[in-house]
Amino acid sequence: MSDLALSDSGERKTASEFHDDYMMHGVEYQSFVCPFCFIGLVAKAIYIDGPQGISPHFSCFPKKPHINGCDGYPLIDGKTVKESKVSNKIKIGKDEFSFPEKLVSRSKPSQNKFIDDFSRLVENNDPEKVKERRDKAGRELGSAKYTSSIIRSFASSKKAIISLVYKYAKEEGLADGDRRTLLKESLSKAPIELDGYKTNYQVAFQGTKYFSKYKKIWNGSGVVKIKGNFIYILSYQHTEYSENDHRHELNFYVAVRIPGDLEASPAYHKTIVERLVKAREKELAVKWHSYGMAKLVLDKDSVLLGVDNLDHVFIEKI
Ligand SMILES: [Zn+2]
Repeated sequence: MSDLALSDSGERKTASEFHDDYMMHGVEYQSFVCPFCFIGLVAKAIYIDGPQGISPHFSCFPKKPHINGCDGYPLIDGKTVKESKVSNKIKIGKDEFSFPEKLVSRSKPSQNKFIDDFSRLVENNDPEKVKERRDKAGRELGSAKYTSSIIRSFASSKKAIISLVYKYAKEEGLADGDRRTLLKESLSKAPIELDGYKTNYQVAFQGTKYFSKYKKIWNGSGVVKIKGNFIYILSYQHTEYSENDHRHELNFYVAVRIPGDLEASPAYHKTIVERLVKAREKELAVKWHSYGMAKLVLDKDSVLLGVDNLDHVFIEKI
């Protein structure tokens, strides 16, 4: 298992960058090699569009391990970063799960042109050269984090953590209370960085039952309305809010602006708008996640979460 690969077009990126390029723009490569020792690699959980149980990564082909002292990871101070990459992994029972830990901005497919003349590079493939390349990557990238620009990646990782906890609880015969405690503990142990603010999966997500003045990955389900250039999702669940001894029951709206140049937008953005329009036409409910800061609009008995960046919205398949 490794994070970095060189694609057939010479792009060196992390598995999570290749995954985002696929999700966002439909960019897919046919083959990959290790950027250090050039053995062939297999893309795992990179070209999938569905709930993820495993994190994007690269594997060796069976019986074709890395060669010339390589393990697929960069070196920092002469040491592989393979073992030190523990912060974004959690263990539940025997299962280990990696999840994205930083929300980044990637408006275009990430550019990371590595090399044009691949054949010359392969000629130069002794252990010393492999080490040099790993050292260089260590200096450039450090211990590359599993990052994503798409809220969907964080939402499906949370889902995967929940299902691992349920699986473990069933196997071990845990009582409901113990299972809830384990879930809370597991999500609290999973770090996440949003706009420079470091928190964890337990705190970062918020349903619509209560208001928060902080930026959250909000989630809920509701009905879709379209007005002009805006799509509104009205949450089924009201939001409770108290101020000056007055208890409000507010309508929670997500407002998604439809891009003016939708045709030229990334594939992911088109999918989000298509799913919302379809839900409106068929009068179906949508399950949504959206990242941002919600605002109180008390004179309209509402909470409004305005979304400009469609990377920050995830609508489950209807
Ligand atoms: Zn290698």
